[in-house]
Amino acid sequence: MYIVQIASECAPVIKAGGLGDVVYGLSRELAIQGHTVELILPKYDCMRYDHIWGLHTAYKDLQVPWNGGIVRCTVHCGWVYTALCFFIEPHSEENYFNRGLYYGSNDDPMRFAFFSKAALEFLLVSNKRPDVIHCHDWQTGLIPVMLYEIYAYHGMENQRICYTIHNFKHQGISGVQALQATGLNRPDYYLQYDRIQDNFNPFAINFMKAGINYSNYVNTVSPHHAWEARHTNISCGLGHTLEIKQSKFGGILNGIDYVMWNPEDDIYLPISYSADDFDGKRLAKKALRDRLMLADDETKPIVAFIGRLDEQKGVHLVSHAIHYALDRGAQFVLLGSATESGIDDLFRAEKKLLNDNPDCHLELGFNEELSHLIYAGADMIVIPSNFEPCGLTQVIGLRYGMVPIVRGVGGLVNTVFDWDYEETRPISERNGFVFYQSDTIALESAMGRALDLYFLNPAKFRELAIQGMRADYSWAASGKRYADVYEHIRHK
Ligand code: ADP
Repeated sequence: MYIVQIASECAPVIKAGGLGDVVYGLSRELAIQGHTVELILPKYDCMRYDHIWGLHTAYKDLQVPWNGGIVRCTVHCGWVYTALCFFIEPHSEENYFNRGLYYGSNDDPMRFAFFSKAALEFLLVSNKRPDVIHCHDWQTGLIPVMLYEIYAYHGMENQRICYTIHNFKHQGISGVQALQATGLNRPDYYLQYDRIQDNFNPFAINFMKAGINYSNYVNTVSPHHAWEARHTNISCGLGHTLEIKQSKFGGILNGIDYVMWNPEDDIYLPISYSADDFDGKRLAKKALRDRLMLADDETKPIVAFIGRLDEQKGVHLVSHAIHYALDRGAQFVLLGSATESGIDDLFRAEKKLLNDNPDCHLELGFNEELSHLIYAGADMIVIPSNFEPCGLTQVIGLRYGMVPIVRGVGGLVNTVFDWDYEETRPISERNGFVFYQSDTIALESAMGRALDLYFLNPAKFRELAIQGMRADYSWAASGKRYADVYEHIRHK
């Protein structure tokens, strides 16, 4: 099959979170399975150009109809490891992708409506006719609408769309300007409940709802989150829409790329190790301590948090976890960045408070290289999320021999199985510690059990970590599931 992925991120070139990992990892797996895969991405000024090989102009003068006029674009092409990527660069006053950021501008809906329009226009004029176009998150939610309402009449009537929702919290709710700008026009037609009208604001359009209603198949990134999306309020107002569309909605668990995330061969690690040669992890732990100037005390476990510092991630519990771990005689390492100033202030104050503590390091910012060393060097990863569509840090942590301590929500339910209590799984498949209530008592009880095992029965703790490393979290199974979905919709 010929598959084109259209997304706002692709790791490691453009990565704000898990979306980037998924777009890259899934594309690679599909290529391994023998499919032809191409990616279309925005050309941001701030992306990691050092991870693109052979960047060159692929299409010189792409003329994108926009706002009643034309925006001229250059389409660049290059390889991101094994993935062939096309990067769209508009030449317009708005400077949509030259702002030193991926997300966070007031006109984000217009930026990504433009990107979506340009991606379709590129497919049209370059005569690319994929069997399936795979769109991701709200940024590309208007693509199926434009395909069905405009481009199908220009020779793209056979293309089918798979739409994946990575996070319901950000839906792209905006005024109707994007309708006129993209040439969809007709606000009266689109502002209908069964089309793209927001479910709560009758005068707004909702990009994610557009993606759900107009795509041939819709999924979120774990089976449990798919259930939550329909049966709880986690889908931020889209539950009824999903209920109506349930026959084409499902959950497919994310994998991780086993080449990018491999403790046996990781360019960011000073050593290599594996489940069969686990002692290397001790050296990684030493390297992490050296790098972050933590006390060199071999008896202490290192507990880590890696992730966006956002309400979603349960930040109040993250900060409690730091103090609880230190009180219990462990060390703590945090790598995270906040986009909200209140949360940023909170962790800056925390960092100041703990600055002189030799058992603690808080690194505020985004640092891909350091994240690899933390996965390798730390013993446990704590993930107290309020909600978690899939979550990748627990899976990457498992691959690197960390023991996850997680709140039982979303994809964490599908990937972490409690060492003491998960009776539906044999001991040999259990891999971490799970708590359910979003409060400090629940968090402490799970962290306490993990720390007790580490201190009181280190051999068992090591066995648990190695057991986690041996399980398969690669894209192999989920890549096949996506391929089955594509096969199913292309014959519709
Ligand atoms: P989300 O997509 O909600 O941000 P996921 O757990 O699905 O969370 O994916 C997070 C990805 O981003 C992982 O690859 C993780 O290592 C990475 N990551 C998150 N925060 C940082 C950071 N501050 N520095 C480096 N990598 C980070």
